[in-house]
Amino acid sequence: MEELKRRIVRDGTVINNQVLNLDTVLNHQVDPPFIMEMGKEFARLYREESITKVLTIESSGITVGFATALELGVPLVFARRKKTLTTETEVYAERVPSFTKGIVTDILVSKSVLGAEDRVLLIDDIIANGDAARGLIRVIERSGATLVGLGIVIEKSFQAGARTIRENGIRVESLVRIRSLDQGEVQFD
Ligand code: 5GP
Repeated sequence: MEELKRRIVRDGTVINNQVLNLDTVLNHQVDPPFIMEMGKEFARLYREESITKVLTIESSGITVGFATALELGVPLVFARRKKTLTTETEVYAERVPSFTKGIVTDILVSKSVLGAEDRVLLIDDIIANGDAARGLIRVIERSGATLVGLGIVIEKSFQAGARTIRENGIRVESLVRIRSLDQGEVQFD
């Protein structure tokens, strides 16, 4: 995905050596045909896996998750984020720290949209420490569904999230990997 690298360098802003602002690439404005290209790539990578649902988390995963689900011809489920733990019994709820907001949120998925018969592809925009992904993985485990793998647009490989998930034997495919944001510069793997 050379075009994605080009746009990250052109439109992204390095906030510090941990965080990259990508508001005009992924997080606040998106280019629909370009997001569709990402969806096509994830669909190509996982086409043979008999995926039945794509799962993502609001809000920035939704565009790429939608594109991937459209290409695979399956529904998209997006986990909701809430600030307080719900007392509802009809949801899977997991508490996760938010990397960018510095708060803890609960992620919720209704039991009506995920079940033991599902083969799930998990999609997200960026992986840092992996808390959001691990929360979604726990939701999948509790639902009895099968996690087929992850599709991540940008993996920051200097943070441990993707590596630790791969070490657990889970397939993680990322479109680009950033190995450093030091000195205000994006370095790709
Ligand atoms: P994690 O849970 O893996 O630590 O963080 C993942 C979530 O935090 C992603 O859903 C993503 O939206 C957000 N995030 C993590 N790192 C960055 C970053 O460098 N820039 C932006 N814009 N979002 C990030």
